[in-house]
Amino acid sequence: MKLFDVHIHLGTRSSDVAFDASALLGQMNRAGVRGGAIFSEAPRSFASHNRGHDGYQRLDMVLESCKAHMDRLFPILWVHPDEDGIDDLIGEAAGRGINGFKVICNNFYVYEDKSLRMLERIAKTGKPVLFHSGILWDDGVSSQYNRPLHWEALCKMGGLRFSLAHCSWPWYDECIALYGKFLTNHMKHPEDNSEMFFDMTPGTPVPYRRDLMTKLLGCGYDIEHNILWGTDCQTDHYNDQWARKWHHLDSALMDELHASEETKHLIFSGNAERFFGLSDVTYKHRDLFSDGS
Ligand SMILES: [Zn+2]
Repeated sequence: MKLFDVHIHLGTRSSDVAFDASALLGQMNRAGVRGGAIFSEAPRSFASHNRGHDGYQRLDMVLESCKAHMDRLFPILWVHPDEDGIDDLIGEAAGRGINGFKVICNNFYVYEDKSLRMLERIAKTGKPVLFHSGILWDDGVSSQYNRPLHWEALCKMGGLRFSLAHCSWPWYDECIALYGKFLTNHMKHPEDNSEMFFDMTPGTPVPYRRDLMTKLLGCGYDIEHNILWGTDCQTDHYNDQWARKWHHLDSALMDELHASEETKHLIFSGNAERFFGLSDVTYKHRDLFSDGS
């Protein structure tokens, strides 16, 4: 079954110019992973993952690194609302072929004005946003910014597709409830067409994975078309053992829960292709209460 990894970070050992795409693809092949979304270097305000480059340099680097393999490597620009000229940077990135934007709320809430302005600009480009969500293992005190309910503020942001990484571990119940809010809001107000996706990148330690998968697939919401799969691997060491381990576990759990082959295909790759606009497939959600519950 085709695998698409939506969550690959630029390795900390990569050179200042680019990473070695051929080596990365070889490691992805060993894991059976066909495509991957590659996050650029972090903005300056995320000091532990920034090496002094501004937004345009980070954009150049990630585009350059992926450009010979655009059928398998999908460049993502990591942005922050405090960056100078963020509007122009987003416009240029979209014009030059970036596939999406990465945002980590390390020192701001997603509902702050500066953040909403940046996200409105991104929504206009038609490109999706991959957010971190859940406890944040950075160097600071930052997890309070990443409770999933803060993303309720995006309900009214027409046209924005976004994902919440790690299913908001450890707050995945809250994350699933939030998704229900987006579904009901969209049913009542179809003009509010922002769309939320779960990014299953671990996240959850192994003993919690069955509970997460049972709740995701068993909650009764129209959810199968909105789950993405990823690993948190790095470009300079794509850990194929780690990727295989999670693929096998998730696949086994889905079998145990009697998920259809179609659902597995959606979660492992089909939804990512829709999320990034790589396929013509569209999806109209069914009413949350259509089964009479
Ligand atoms: Zn990550």
